[in-house]
Amino acid sequence: MTQDTRLDLLVAGGGVAGLTAALSLHAAGFARVTVVEAAPDVQPVGAGLNLMPNAVRELDALGLLGHLEADAVRTRELRYYHAGGALVSREERGLRAGYRWPQLSVHRGHLQRVLTDAVRERLGPEALVTGVRVTDVEQPDTPGARPRVRLEHRCDDVRGTAVLEPDVLIGADGIRSAVRRALHPDEGEPPWNGVLVWRGVSRMDARHVGSFMFIAGDDRRKAVVYPMTEPSLRRPDVLVNWALAMPADRVDERFLGDWNRPVPLARLLRHYEGWEFGGVSVPEVLRAADGAYEYPMVDRDPLPRWTHGRTTLIGDAAHAMYPIGSNGATQSVIDARALAHALAVHRDPDDALAAYERERRPVTTALQRANRRLGPEVVINLAHERAPGGFTDIDEVVPPDERRAIAARYAEAGAFDRETVNRGSPYGAPVRALP
Ligand SMILES: Cc1cc2nc3c(=O)[nH]c(=O)nc-3n(C[C@H](O)[C@H](O)[C@H](O)COP(=O)(O)OP(=O)(O)OC[C@H]3O[C@@H](n4cnc5c(N)ncnc54)[C@H](O)[C@@H]3O)c2cc1C
Repeated sequence: MTQDTRLDLLVAGGGVAGLTAALSLHAAGFARVTVVEAAPDVQPVGAGLNLMPNAVRELDALGLLGHLEADAVRTRELRYYHAGGALVSREERGLRAGYRWPQLSVHRGHLQRVLTDAVRERLGPEALVTGVRVTDVEQPDTPGARPRVRLEHRCDDVRGTAVLEPDVLIGADGIRSAVRRALHPDEGEPPWNGVLVWRGVSRMDARHVGSFMFIAGDDRRKAVVYPMTEPSLRRPDVLVNWALAMPADRVDERFLGDWNRPVPLARLLRHYEGWEFGGVSVPEVLRAADGAYEYPMVDRDPLPRWTHGRTTLIGDAAHAMYPIGSNGATQSVIDARALAHALAVHRDPDDALAAYERERRPVTTALQRANRRLGPEVVINLAHERAPGGFTDIDEVVPPDERRAIAARYAEAGAFDRETVNRGSPYGAPVRALP
């Protein structure tokens, strides 16, 4: 039994989750999909992120792979290094690891632009309304009950408010979600784990970057570096993403969950002098940056439920996790596809929301918990704990079986192991809802 395409579907938030949801709902035949985005326009902000092959498979199903790959790198190798420079572990990734889809390193702004353009082109320009913020939601906790969504419109000098009553509200409004707050009013701010992340983007000669992604250091200092664009004859230099992490005593609570707080580069540089891995110099990467942004490492506690009446959550609004293991954007894409599929195959939207949550909440909860234990990155901490001064043979410090088991456990928790992904999309070709 399939769904009625005339359902009025409101998506709060035009980030990766919200835009992918809109495209997936449109592909499933839903004709009345609107995304409201608080920002006055969709800006290409942020730094780099990685999309795992399971998310790339879903974006391919939406016909977006070619556009994405026009400005992205197929991640072939991930290396983990001890802070002293020795290699801890090396993993093949994406196509090279036997997946049918690549893993992509991409600037968040490029991903956002590809999704935004596709939404405007396929659903029409009026489907994405910017400068409109969800301020509150009244959602009776009974099946079939529709939400009352309060919106504030802020653009230039124009101010206004409105109330909508969609058939379904999809909260895709990120880690500080207003929709989530309405469903879980006692939750408070995202908890901070005592680590500060600094990140940025550099433009550099490709020969000084390497063709791999690396994660180096330990629980005192960490660096992640990877290229996000390929060199070309026209552009021999490449865009490089970098992120550094260090524990800190305190944080300004106003900036929890804020990705855009600038900090002076000099403040970071002094902690990373002499850091070099596989021929890539971290200070050189930092010196080529046009700025640095501070992000307190926050996440959200797993929720006991996402759906109340006809309102549900996707992406960071549902399960914000530490930026470890490349799962923030990846899982948001999967949520969006899973929700659209569920809405298309169930006649009753309540059944659809329940099926979506049954499928997705256990996986993302497992990943949130795994990331609190550092996910696959735990391997560099183990190497540091067991051999703080360095080592000559990593196999004596963290044996190969143990290294493989760490990576495999994490992939299974997130259902992105090769066998599962290569079976193809569980959402298949879009099921068309009834006209
Ligand atoms: C500015 C920014 C920069 C980021 N940079 C990086 C990065 O460099 N690397 C990385 O790994 N991850 C980054 N992230 C996070 C990453 O995008 C997410 O973890 C992941 O993609 C999940 O996406 P999401 O759509 O659930 O959430 P988000 O990407 O956070 O998108 C949520 C969207 O909802 C909008 N919104 C918020 N509140 C409301 C409201 N009340 N009403 C309407 N709209 C609202 C926001 O403006 C935003 O566009 C960034 C997020 C943001 C917002």
